[in-house]
Amino acid sequence: MKNTVNQIVEKYGSDPTRLMDILIDIQESAGYISKEAIGLLSQLLHMSQVDIEQTITFYHFFSSKPQGKYAVYLNNSPVAYMFGREAIKETLEKETGIKFGEVTADGLIGLYDTACIGMNDQEPAAIINNKIFTRLTPYRIREIVKHMREGKDMDELRNESYGDGKNNLPSLRSMVSSNIRRKGMILSDDYNSGTVTREILPKISPEAVIAEIKHSHMRGRGGAGFPTGLKWEFCRRAKGDKHYVICNADEGEPGTFKDRVILTEKPELVFEGMALAGYAIGGDEGILYLRYEYRYMKNYLYGVLQQMRDNGLLGKSISGIEGFDFDIRIQFGAGAYVCGEESALLESLEGKRGEPRDKPPFPVEKGYLGQPSIINNVETFATAVRIIQNGGEWFTQFGTDDSTGTKILSISGDCMFPGVYEVNWGFNVEDMLDMVGAYEVQAVQVGGPSGTLIGPAEFHRTLGYSDLSTGGSMIIFGKQRNLLKDVVVNFMEFFIDESCGSCSTCRNMTQVMNNKLKKILSGKGVEADLIDLKTWSKTLNASRCGLGQTAANPIVSSLKNFPHLYNELIQKDKEFDEGFDMEKSVQAACTFVGRVPNFNHH
Ligand code: SF4
Repeated sequence: MKNTVNQIVEKYGSDPTRLMDILIDIQESAGYISKEAIGLLSQLLHMSQVDIEQTITFYHFFSSKPQGKYAVYLNNSPVAYMFGREAIKETLEKETGIKFGEVTADGLIGLYDTACIGMNDQEPAAIINNKIFTRLTPYRIREIVKHMREGKDMDELRNESYGDGKNNLPSLRSMVSSNIRRKGMILSDDYNSGTVTREILPKISPEAVIAEIKHSHMRGRGGAGFPTGLKWEFCRRAKGDKHYVICNADEGEPGTFKDRVILTEKPELVFEGMALAGYAIGGDEGILYLRYEYRYMKNYLYGVLQQMRDNGLLGKSISGIEGFDFDIRIQFGAGAYVCGEESALLESLEGKRGEPRDKPPFPVEKGYLGQPSIINNVETFATAVRIIQNGGEWFTQFGTDDSTGTKILSISGDCMFPGVYEVNWGFNVEDMLDMVGAYEVQAVQVGGPSGTLIGPAEFHRTLGYSDLSTGGSMIIFGKQRNLLKDVVVNFMEFFIDESCGSCSTCRNMTQVMNNKLKKILSGKGVEADLIDLKTWSKTLNASRCGLGQTAANPIVSSLKNFPHLYNELIQKDKEFDEGFDMEKSVQAACTFVGRVPNFNHH
């Protein structure tokens, strides 16, 4: 253990800000992070054990107990349930003789639930030792468990089902289908890696790059929609020893998987976009923050980066431009949805718990390691390359006045052709449903759990920042689905699990509202409960970050658009809330997150 920890710490220059990398390597080599390892890290990194432990306990994929030689993480998103997750879970428990959350007595197999792993178009799906297993069936599970008992390694095990185990593109495609159904400017086949870097950048100044991006009116594709050119300009102007370009590839919103596809099929486009941003802001280094669920892409993406270095597209004096020195490294997360929030992502990048920072200052002034940083998502960087290649004016012909360009959608659920579709902004929901072969549709979840659940009366609406804003996740629910029980409760529990716990509103109110929802579902609800839910949802607006501010959305939007589902369940003849004890519910919520409530404070 001592030698292993020493080597790992040395590999990262004994730098405490690289704690995430260090912990990931220890977790992967030992299967868990032991007390002994924490003690050694404390000495070598000159950090307190408490600081190290609080990072470990924050992330789903770190563990201080052995997770099993084979750790099976089965996705528990609503779409996984819709496509047979329950049968997979039962088969796993039967074949291993353990329940979820346990490890077999011989330490061979551990079973765990995990939130959306970005495979909604091929569920049920699981991660086993960083390899992805999609479209699982009970038969395949029996085969997999048999192979685990035979001691096969994961590549061997995966090859039995999915083809060769090399870390190349065909191999990734054999493991996970890209399911590209409609191509536009980003997913188009006519991209040649390095064209913009070699042919255009030597001819235009960084300021001209920013001016072109501004002229395109592109807004960030992550959901908030901040104008990209403006962000780059602010960062270029900000004073600092170094400037950083950070790509947020932590797509954790249940139902989204487009970044997975872009990074599989067009990684050079994303990396070229990061280098382009580096040129524009005077950046020194780029970091791709990639969710741990996509660890299976590690060697493939490292290979792509090396190829780009070999081709002179990364490194020193790129394209012969003096001073244009820029390289990219990949930083993996370790399973925390809140790290998709930009300031939480920065904390995580620095090796800490992913708790959102207070703003201001904004990352463009004080970001990674306190230096000016831009944070954009995968799609934004890819789009920027197309804008510089074809011009900002060209770009404005796609989409609408306030939402220019295209949007890549991750479409899943009850439809014939789940997958990735690139459409112009302004596309309407009705056309989208026809495009993907969705019939008898009861509802569409637009923008994941933090977005909105709409019914047929709103299918005429269009995708765009002024109407239905979305980061790209679209989940379709047919008439046969129980929206409240199978979708809204699942999403509320997702937010409860993912709250970082800093704000009392987000920490407690999500739990309290979910208890109330379950009371209604049990048939004990009254009219006053609906009023409570609406009133309490407003308290969440006071939360510090977007997670808490939107955590009531599954309930709020279902109450607004599907009131009949609630009205059918409540007891009309009772006016008072007899079955619900607020104090008990808050107590339960506080126990859940390990805090002590104080009912004397108002
Ligand atoms: Fe953490 Fe929730 Fe507060 Fe965001 S809103 S900082 S996730 S507790």
